[in-house]
Amino acid sequence: MIVGAGVAGAIVAKQLSEQGKRVLILEAGTGEGLTLEGFQNHVETFYGAVDKNANAPYPVNPNALNPTDGANHYFEEQGPLPLSGSYTRVLGGTTMHWEGKTIRMLPEDFQLRTLYGQGLDWPIKYEEIMPYYRQAEYEIGVSGSVEGQKALGVPFEEGYVFPMLELPPSYLDQKFAEKIHGTTVEFYGKSVKLDLSTFPQGRNSIPNRSTKLTQTYPCMVA
Ligand SMILES: Cc1cc2nc3c(=O)[nH]c(=O)nc-3n(C[C@H](O)[C@H](O)[C@H](O)COP(=O)(O)OP(=O)(O)OC[C@H]3O[C@@H](n4cnc5c(N)ncnc54)[C@H](O)[C@@H]3O)c2cc1C
Repeated sequence: MIVGAGVAGAIVAKQLSEQGKRVLILEAGTGEGLTLEGFQNHVETFYGAVDKNANAPYPVNPNALNPTDGANHYFEEQGPLPLSGSYTRVLGGTTMHWEGKTIRMLPEDFQLRTLYGQGLDWPIKYEEIMPYYRQAEYEIGVSGSVEGQKALGVPFEEGYVFPMLELPPSYLDQKFAEKIHGTTVEFYGKSVKLDLSTFPQGRNSIPNRSTKLTQTYPCMVA
């Protein structure tokens, strides 16, 4: 039994059912957005909302309050930098309005205390999480360029490709890239070269035919 039909709950449910288990998902939110009419209702709610924040299209759900929203605030946070994230309480969860950025963390991010004397080290290393990144990227159908990410210091297994080809840069991206290419900024006493790179995204481009992996994922049916 899984509580919550966000991306995490949905993927766990999929994997368990593939193993022949019977799965029940309990979801507090409505599934309105699955029909065109329901989706349109969310759009209308958004138009009518005074505060057009990320959750403005969705009804307040007393069965699953948003832990960080105004009067519903029940999530206690301490320290100078409280999380300002929000949660969506509908079928599909917060993934209904995520922005599709699927950037991997760098190996250094897991060792902030050791390398930079900041924060805490993670109890796991990048290498341990690599297979899960790969699995998530294939579930989502991420478009991206391994070479482009390698150039930024992200390691991949030999021969790895994203399931979809990198999205081409927009006109604005191209103009921006032309202007910043070859320029530098001073950053903490270091001179850093500026360039533009497209980050991996959970948006459909076209399937990468050089993938030798056998995973299936919904957006590569073509
Ligand atoms: C504006 C915005 C942009 C974002 N952009 C990105 C991005 O670009 N890239 C990225 O990687 N991440 C992004 N995120 C974060 C990402 O969307 C979330 O980390 C992810 O969707 C969380 O998935 P989840 O399954 O863990 O939780 P959720 O998707 O929040 O799912 C939880 C589910 O549980 C249900 N639920 C809660 N309480 C109960 C209860 N008591 N009983 C039954 N059901 C319950 C909820 O209704 C919901 O459906 C973004 C988040 C926001 C808010």
